[in-house]
Amino acid sequence: MKFCSECAHPIQKKIPQGDNRERSVCTQCGTIHYVNPRIIAGCLPTFEGKILLCKRAIEPRKGFWTLPAGFMEEGETLEEGAIRETVEEAGIDVSCDQLLTSISVPHISQVHVFFLANMPNASHAQSTSESLDVKLFDVKDIPWQEIAFPTVKKTLKHYLDDLDAGVLKTRVFDIKFNERLKVNT
Ligand SMILES: [Zn+2]
Repeated sequence: MKFCSECAHPIQKKIPQGDNRERSVCTQCGTIHYVNPRIIAGCLPTFEGKILLCKRAIEPRKGFWTLPAGFMEEGETLEEGAIRETVEEAGIDVSCDQLLTSISVPHISQVHVFFLANMPNASHAQSTSESLDVKLFDVKDIPWQEIAFPTVKKTLKHYLDDLDAGVLKTRVFDIKFNERLKVNT
């Protein structure tokens, strides 16, 4: 940010009085423009034991498979965001079930949150402007080498481990920059 969204005057980086971090502060009106982490809400939709994945039509990671997920919009709940993204990316309506993962990714200032989601039927699943392909995968056919993001890969792995163990857990953890490289190989 270079200019104030309130008065269009230049922004300066400085630590406001009473704060302990550098912020973007307007040189004219004094407005402090806070930048905070962003939340990505998504679903792990299942149907008759299969898992729905979307092949990304847009960068980053175009052509790789992902769970439907995206940035929350203002004024919506976490579940509403997850459901909206699933409609937008896969063309299917779902209801949110258990929270599976809440993953902090501090080096990119994001938090990724995934719900298990119930698909009443799978017939509407279709490619969209955001997905080149939308497909139900048998657990054994999940394309592990072509998963778009570490948070998606970890969510899938934890879910499948829990299925084997017979108890679904909610997991709260983080992925650090170095670990991201490990998860992706
Ligand atoms: Zn200003």
